[in-house]
Amino acid sequence: MSAFDLTGRVAAVTGANAGIGQGIALALAEAGADVAAIGRTPAEETAAQVRALGRRCELVSADLSSIAPVGAAIGAVVERLGRLDILVNNAGIIRRADALAFTEEDWDAVIDTNLKTPFFLAQAAARHMAGWTSPAGRRGKIINIASMLSFQGGVRVPSYTASKSGLAGLTKLLANEWAAKGINVNAIAPGYIATANTAALQADETRNRQILERIPEGRWGDPADIGGAAVFLASSAADYVQGHVLAVDGGWLAR
Ligand code: NAP
Repeated sequence: MSAFDLTGRVAAVTGANAGIGQGIALALAEAGADVAAIGRTPAEETAAQVRALGRRCELVSADLSSIAPVGAAIGAVVERLGRLDILVNNAGIIRRADALAFTEEDWDAVIDTNLKTPFFLAQAAARHMAGWTSPAGRRGKIINIASMLSFQGGVRVPSYTASKSGLAGLTKLLANEWAAKGINVNAIAPGYIATANTAALQADETRNRQILERIPEGRWGDPADIGGAAVFLASSAADYVQGHVLAVDGGWLAR
């Protein structure tokens, strides 16, 4: 199983204080990685759990609604943990409203947080990773958190669908440009996962029933369900996987 071992690697995860980001941070730590939790809410609970696993965890404060903190955040990870091997672009938001009434504010906020900032974080991370001289021994891994709405249209979430469809395309472009530099760029598309992001859907009895009826697994996913895919894509086991959007959806897309 050594191909999946992340011992000695440093992973930066955005939005690791809650939900899917927390599940990913813990899975990477369980696989051996030290973790930098980049976000606006201090990931104290995540840090305590990572440290309980015997790994280092650094909290890097950054409001990712703009790209202003990007350079300093990646710089802080490298300075405090000595390197950066894995970047997980997880932080994201959603705004729900009919397309006819959708505001520019709701458009810009989602596109900036879910698409613009992840690109510039990936760029800052890749500039660090591309400077490595020994690609055989060290590879960089960038994992973007996409969505079912990287494949489907959805309803009442126009900026979210645009951002996640854009992120899937960007994942492929970056893989094309950076594979030769020893960097793997892939994405995970979670299905319906029980987090704050989907609280409104879970609370809506009709939507909740419709969603559960369509999921072959018959249940909402848990943040921990995303962890295994993240460990795989972050590890040498996935060195030949490039530009892939891996659905972890209980079978949603298969139906
Ligand atoms: P969540 O519990 O709401 O987590 C979102 C995370 O993003 C939080 O840590 C949040 O920090 C962070 N974040 C949002 N805006 C930020 C900002 N401006 N600066 C820094 N951090 C910010 O929801 P989640 O479901 O785990 O979502 C994580 C990712 O998975 C998102 O990209 C989401 O689109 C994606 N996703 C979720 C599902 C699902 O079913 N849940 C499905 C597909 C994709 P705060 O706590 O400070 O707000």
